[in-house]
Amino acid sequence: MSPINIAIVGVGKIVRDQHLPAIAANSDYKLIAAASRHGVVDGIDNFKSIEAMLEAVPAIDAVSLCMPPQYRYAAAHTALQAGKHVFLEKPPGATLSEVADLQALADSKGLSLFASWHSRYAPAVEEAKAFLASTKINSVQVIWKEDVRHWHPNQEWIWAAGGLGVFDPGINALSIVTHILPKQLFITAATLEFPENRDAPIAASITFRDADALPVSAEFDWRQTGHQSWDIIAETDAGRMVLAEGGAKLSINGELRKDTPEREYPALYERFAEIVKAGKSDVDLAPLRHVADAFMLGKRKFVEAFHD
Ligand code: NAP
Repeated sequence: MSPINIAIVGVGKIVRDQHLPAIAANSDYKLIAAASRHGVVDGIDNFKSIEAMLEAVPAIDAVSLCMPPQYRYAAAHTALQAGKHVFLEKPPGATLSEVADLQALADSKGLSLFASWHSRYAPAVEEAKAFLASTKINSVQVIWKEDVRHWHPNQEWIWAAGGLGVFDPGINALSIVTHILPKQLFITAATLEFPENRDAPIAASITFRDADALPVSAEFDWRQTGHQSWDIIAETDAGRMVLAEGGAKLSINGELRKDTPEREYPALYERFAEIVKAGKSDVDLAPLRHVADAFMLGKRKFVEAFHD
C-alpha cells in the first residue's frame, strides 16, 4: 500500500517536538504539506490556512490538527468535508458535542477520525492495566503537579475559556486512568481554583467513584516548582502500584517492573495508520467527559492572579 499523504495544521511546539520526528520515522506516511499562520515546516509546501492548503494540494489523504483545542473543530470539519482522514491532537475539541458532530460526519463519509490520547501509549500503561486486572483495587490516587511557567510559557490560549487550564495536562492523567481501571468512573465532587484574572483553572481537586464505590482522587496543580509529579498510585490486594512519570515507570511494592524509553507519538502514528487502513475511527471521549463533569459539578474558588 502506498504511504498516506499527510499534512500538518498548526505548526507549534508539539509539532516540532513530536509530530515531525514521528512522521519522518514511519514509512506509512509521507508529509507533503503544512498549514499555519506563522509556523513553517522546511522542505514541503506551506500555506497560511487549511482551506488554501486543501485547495492547492488535492493529493492530501489525511491531516493532523495540532492547533489549540478551541480552533480544532473548524479545521476538522473543513478537512472531513474535503474527504480527508483526521488526526486530532488532545484534547479532541473544546466541547463534547462538537467532537460528536465530527464523529458523525466522519462516519457518514467513511473517513477515519482519531481522537489521540498520547499518554495512553506511555510505556508502562498496558502493564499497569494488566496488573490492576489481576487483583482487587482498594483506592486510586492521581497526583499531577507541574510548573506551568516551565511547560507552557506564553501560551495564552491555555488560560482562555476552552483552553482547559490545568486540565490540559490533567486530561493526560484522565486518559490513562480511564484506560487502566476496569470500570467506568464518575465524579462525586470537585473544587476548581481559578486565578482571578484567568478563565481557566490553575488547580483542581477531584473525587470519583465507580459502581463498586472504589475511591479515586485526583490532584492537579500548576503551581508546583521543583520536583514535578505525574503519578498514579493504586492500593490493591497485591500491594501498592505506582505508575510514575506520566506512565513511563511502573513499580509494585517498591520493585521497578517497567522503565523503558517512551515512544508515545510513534505509537500514535502507528495507530492512526492502522485505523485508516481498517476504515474505522477511534474516538473515546471519556477523558474529556470527566473534564466537562468537573466544570459542571465543581465548586469554584478564586485565587491569586497569575502572571507569566
Ligand atoms: P502552541 O505551540 O501554542 O500552538 C500550536 C500552534 O497552533 C501555534 O504555533 C499556532 O501556529 C497555532 N495557533 C495558535 N493559536 C491559534 C489560533 N488562535 N488559531 C489557529 N491556530 C492557532 O501549542 P502546542 O503546545 O503545540 O499544543 C497544541 C496542542 O497539542 C494542544 O491541544 C496541546 O494540548 C497538545 N499537546 C501539547 C503538548 C506539549 O508538550 N506542548 C504535548 C501533547 C499535546 P500559527 O500561529 O503558525 O498558526
